[in-house]
Amino acid sequence: MSALQKIIAVIIAALTSLANITGYFGLETKPGEYETYKNVIVMIGDGMGFNHLEATKQAYDLDSLQMENVVVKAESKTNSLFWATTDSAAGGTALSSGIRTINGMVSTYALDPFRVFATPKSVTEVAIEQGKATGVVTTDYTSGATPSAFSAHTYSRDNDVDITEQQLASDIDLIWGGYNGLATADVVAAAGRTYIGSATDLSNFDGETKSFGQFDFDDMKYVTNNHDTPTIEIMTEKAIEILSKDEDGFFLMVEGACIDKHSHSNDKENMILSTYEFDKAVGAALEFAEEDGETLVIITADHETGGLTYNAETDEYYYTSGSHTNVNVPLFINKSDAGYVNGAAYKNRHISAQVGLILGAEEGTYPCAK
Ligand SMILES: [Zn+2]
Repeated sequence: MSALQKIIAVIIAALTSLANITGYFGLETKPGEYETYKNVIVMIGDGMGFNHLEATKQAYDLDSLQMENVVVKAESKTNSLFWATTDSAAGGTALSSGIRTINGMVSTYALDPFRVFATPKSVTEVAIEQGKATGVVTTDYTSGATPSAFSAHTYSRDNDVDITEQQLASDIDLIWGGYNGLATADVVAAAGRTYIGSATDLSNFDGETKSFGQFDFDDMKYVTNNHDTPTIEIMTEKAIEILSKDEDGFFLMVEGACIDKHSHSNDKENMILSTYEFDKAVGAALEFAEEDGETLVIITADHETGGLTYNAETDEYYYTSGSHTNVNVPLFINKSDAGYVNGAAYKNRHISAQVGLILGAEEGTYPCAK
C-alpha cells in the first residue's frame, strides 16, 4: 500500500465513524471500561426482538429463556448508516466490524465499496491476529448475510461466489451452515478443508483440520431432521469443543437465522420453534462459559423482524409487518465487567468495536469505540 493509499484509508475510516446520519443526533451511550476475555462467543438471533422471546416463553410456558439468565440485560439500536431500518448485511457488519454501512454491504465501507483503499477489520480477523481459533456457524446458507459479515468483505450480500471463495481461503477454522450449491465436497477439499455434509460427519469430525459444513437448508429452517442434519445446539456444542482446544482462546459467532425467515412470512409457529432451538444453543454456550470462567457470551440480534406485537385482550402475539423494523433488540451478556450496564441502549456498531478491543485489537482499530 502506498503512503497516499494509507492516508486515504485512514480518512475513510474516520469519516465512516463520524458519518452516521440516522443516529447522529441521538444521545450516545458507549460501552465503558472492560475486562479482556480469552474466549468470546457472539450469538445472533436474526430478526429476534423482545416480543419473539415473550411469544416463545408463552408457547412453552416458561418463566424465562436460558438467554435471559445473564447478569446484564441491555438493548441494541439497530440502525444502518443511512437508514433507520437495517438489513442483515449492514446489521451483520455493525455486529462484526465496528461500523455502520449501507444496506446490502458486507463488512465494507460505504465510502470504499470496492475496497480500493481500506477494509474494516472484523472481530474474527482480530481474533485470528491474536492467534485464537475462530468459527462461524449459522442455520442460514454459509454465504448468507450474517455469516458473511464475519468471514468476508464485499459490496453486495448477493456476491455468493466471491463470499464463498473468501471464506474457503480464510484462516477461519470452521464455517458451518446451509449448503449453497457452491461449496461442493470437491471445492471444499481443493481448498484444503474437511467437508462436513451431515450430522454424522460432524459427530465423527476430530477438528484437526479446517472444515466447511454444508447441511440441508430446509432441515435447518424447519428444525426437522430428515437428512441427518445437525441442530444449531449440536453445531454450537461441537464448535466450542473444537475451538476451545486452542490455548490462545477462540472467537465463535453463531447465528439462528430462521427466526427472521419465519417472521418475514409471519409463520409464528416456526418462528417460536426456531427461537426455542436458538435458545438451546445459547444455553450450551452459557454452560461452557460457566465452567470455563474465561468466556464472554454476548447474545443479541441484528434487527427485529415482523413487528411482533402483544394483544392484551386475546393474550396473543401477532405480526404487524412482513419486514424488518427498527425497534431496539436484546443485548444480553453473561459478564458484568465487559463495559455494559443493565437497561442501557447501545449502538449496534459499539458491540463489535467493544468485542474487538476485548479480544485484543490495537487501540484505534475501531475509531467509534471510545
Ligand atoms: Zn430478514
